[in-house]
Amino acid sequence: MPPAGVRDKLLFTPGPLTTSRTVKEAMLHDAGSWHFEFNDEVKRIRQRLLAVAGVSEAMGWEAIPLQGSGTFAVEAVFATCVPPQGKVAVLANGAYGERMALMLRQAGIDHLVLRTSEDRVNDPRALAACLATDPAVTHVAAVHVETTTGILNPIADLGRVTRASGRVFILDAMSSFGALPLDLAEADIDFLIASPNKCLEGVPGFAFVLARRAALLACEGWARSLSLDLLGQLKGFERNGQFRFTPPTHALLALARALAELEAEGGVAARGARYQRNHRCLLAGMARLGFVPYLEPGIQSFIITAFHFPADPRFSFEAFYQRLSDRGFLIYPGKISQVPLFRIGSIGRIEEADIAALLVAVEASLRAMGLGLPLPR
Ligand SMILES: *Cc1c(COP(=O)(O)O)cnc(C)c1O
Repeated sequence: MPPAGVRDKLLFTPGPLTTSRTVKEAMLHDAGSWHFEFNDEVKRIRQRLLAVAGVSEAMGWEAIPLQGSGTFAVEAVFATCVPPQGKVAVLANGAYGERMALMLRQAGIDHLVLRTSEDRVNDPRALAACLATDPAVTHVAAVHVETTTGILNPIADLGRVTRASGRVFILDAMSSFGALPLDLAEADIDFLIASPNKCLEGVPGFAFVLARRAALLACEGWARSLSLDLLGQLKGFERNGQFRFTPPTHALLALARALAELEAEGGVAARGARYQRNHRCLLAGMARLGFVPYLEPGIQSFIITAFHFPADPRFSFEAFYQRLSDRGFLIYPGKISQVPLFRIGSIGRIEEADIAALLVAVEASLRAMGLGLPLPR
């Protein structure tokens, strides 16, 4: 880590992300996790998370923070909300959809996977056909922005199909929540899972689930886990305002500050607009250098972008990564099965000037590696 006062490397990753100094400073407190002041803060955070999604407790929604990373909260939804004889249809076109299938297998929960390739969105018609022919399916689970590639899945269509057939819809909105507009009251979503350390620009330590209260209360007695029991967690908050087990107090204080900064920025629309500017600047600059994005423009989100490796034998991702790191920029390796890719995120407390600085560093790194520019296609 750099010495105090020296700027950290900028993170162009899918999270955790670059956060503001003030969000980091919000953690310079030791809070008593049972103390009423802290519990009041947790209650406000739960209400404000609902407000980000355009809903409220009065409208029948609950926000339930849960210790651990985002994966823990996805697993908690399955562990809590699928009945013993339930079956989950998972839509997968990347690592996070596949991870859902993995956790279902691990928990011994019956499931099937509707796969599309990593450069194709989920197929709502395949889902409709599946739900029409397999009455055992009780739940549908999908990923909003599949961070593996940055692909934006058609969740409104998936939600409609799921609702029309009377199934429960679970959405992993981890990498989109706070930046892509989503009206929970309108969307046919029952359980939405997200994280403070992505577009909300907080720090890691917990995740949260936004749940239709009635849908969650219906899960009484199904929990397969004690610590990942989402209904148990809600009951804990209702009993004494507390987390059942040690909460990440500092990360919660950071999120309270991060939510204030989201509101000050102008809410989800303004934050999404900033990320979109970042993304456009990145795409244009990378195209000038000759990089080719992995996805077609119509299905590419502005959250994170995957680029093909240059077709030049002098390119090595490890060397490229190291040179960018030396200049103060961290990018992200690819994560897909067949094609060599790397990824650059547009989210976190970064703006166009940071993207422009990154692009200068990318160009200098390529030249230093002896690659001719623009890159050969
Ligand atoms: C970040 C992310 C997760 C959670 O990952 P963790 O490492 O467990 O926080 C899950 N789904 C998606 C789509 C993500 O981007």
